[in-house]
Amino acid sequence: MTVFAPDTESFVAEFDGAIDAHLGWTHRILRCAVLRSPPGDDVLGADAHLCCRFGRWFAQYQEKFDQIDAATTACVLDHHEHMHAAVRALCSDLLAGRQGQPADLEAFASRQTALLADLARLKTLTLARSARHDALTGLPLRYGLEEEFTRCRALATRLGQQMVLVMADLDHFKHVNDLHGHSVGDQALRHVAALLRAAARADEPVFRFGGEEFLAILHAPDEALAGHAAERLLQALRDAPLALSDGGALHLRASAGLVVVGPDEPLASALERADSALYAAKAAGRNCWRRGSTRTSAAAP
Ligand code: GH3
Ligand code: MG
Ligand code: MG
Repeated sequence: MTVFAPDTESFVAEFDGAIDAHLGWTHRILRCAVLRSPPGDDVLGADAHLCCRFGRWFAQYQEKFDQIDAATTACVLDHHEHMHAAVRALCSDLLAGRQGQPADLEAFASRQTALLADLARLKTLTLARSARHDALTGLPLRYGLEEEFTRCRALATRLGQQMVLVMADLDHFKHVNDLHGHSVGDQALRHVAALLRAAARADEPVFRFGGEEFLAILHAPDEALAGHAAERLLQALRDAPLALSDGGALHLRASAGLVVVGPDEPLASALERADSALYAAKAAGRNCWRRGSTRTSAAAP
């Protein structure tokens, strides 16, 4: 789930530009009020809120804003539409030689204030989120792992399933950089991230855990099906080599360690077991997964 992460700086510039565009729009309304000059379709039109520059820009990103905070996104849309409606009524009155309605003026001012407050909130949330995501792959970084671990444990319990960690590390990835260059290496990491993301379910987070190491938190009804899930992740890579610009194909492989997390097991313990299992998969020849040893002791209360 990439959310602006790869290009945060230019996104923020666009965000500010869209807000500035609305300031320009407000100046045109003032000119209309003072000089009676026609303000344009993005003021008087019935769908002005959809065709003004801000409205078009926001619609383009609405799905992503929904992922960040659907409630604030809905408020932005509502305030923006009502602000436009109030201004349309005011300008229509003025251009027709009628007195503007104080209620419309009040609605315009209060909706604009609320709109700007909600946009500031959305921008802050977007920036906070992008700081927790990897700029190269768009995947979440390990900083949010503890929180997601807790969320996934609750989800697995609710579903009556086991929580499963799969730690995957690309095989001989150093060779990819050495043979094809660092930028193809970067491309390969983006490719792998997208494949793993697509192979996991929407409610199963996939992290960029380290350089060429990924961690998926899955849920499965039992140990056997957990193994199938790990195999599915590795198979996704085998099935989709990266197409290179010279017409060649880069075949990427990974090894993985799988653990079924104990009901009271802390994250650190599960990670340690997954890491050992990954090591065992590497030692077994790579391009395979291994199950972690059973936990020997429960966590201290
Ligand atoms: P193994 O099968 O034992 O895991 O071998 P490996 O070559 O994958 O492991 P090693 O740890 O020796 O090398 C990992 C390589 O991953 C080296 C490092 O340069 C590369 N790498 C890590 N992060 C990035 C990145 O962001 N971009 C690129 N291009 N390479 C990266
Ligand atoms: Mg590796
Ligand atoms: Mg590694």
